[in-house]
Amino acid sequence: MQRLIRFFKSLFLLELYKGLSVTGRYFFLRKFTLRYPEEKTPLSPRFRGLHALRRYPNGEERCIACKLCEAVCPAMAITIESEPREDGTRRTTRYEIDLTKCIFCGFCEESCPVDSIVETHIFEYHGEERGDLLMNKQRLLAVGDKYEQEIAAAREIDSAYR
Ligand code: SF4
Ligand code: SF4
Repeated sequence: MQRLIRFFKSLFLLELYKGLSVTGRYFFLRKFTLRYPEEKTPLSPRFRGLHALRRYPNGEERCIACKLCEAVCPAMAITIESEPREDGTRRTTRYEIDLTKCIFCGFCEESCPVDSIVETHIFEYHGEERGDLLMNKQRLLAVGDKYEQEIAAAREIDSAYR
């Protein structure tokens, strides 16, 4: 009996019409796809994208080289070296994040006592050569300088959750 049903189903192309009816039904419904990159979905202020190191308004870098972010990073993607400065404060001489290891968990951001290392909304980046995805201190500070306004605004919204 089952064979007979299958035979008639395939003879009258019932599966095909069933599939076409689904296509036809969704053809007139509201579309959920976007024309990326012209159209983009809204991002949460808590979105975790490319990292940045921030400065204070006077230009001084926030990072105090406490190495909490390095210690907490589950992917061991952060490498920090530091030295005391002449004024007795301590600053990093090397701060690197290997984005090929990073899992974008946000632990580094959460652990930082001075809001120095943050994750921005930037997700459109790529690397073409070896080392392009190794973010050093200069590159991280440059991202922070460029997007400081947006980072500060996102932190303001986000403060309710902290
Ligand atoms: S987001 Fe997570 S994995 Fe990436 S550097 Fe920070 S702590 Fe490490
Ligand atoms: S980025 Fe923050 S947590 Fe990491 S070493 Fe600097 S001050 Fe400490």
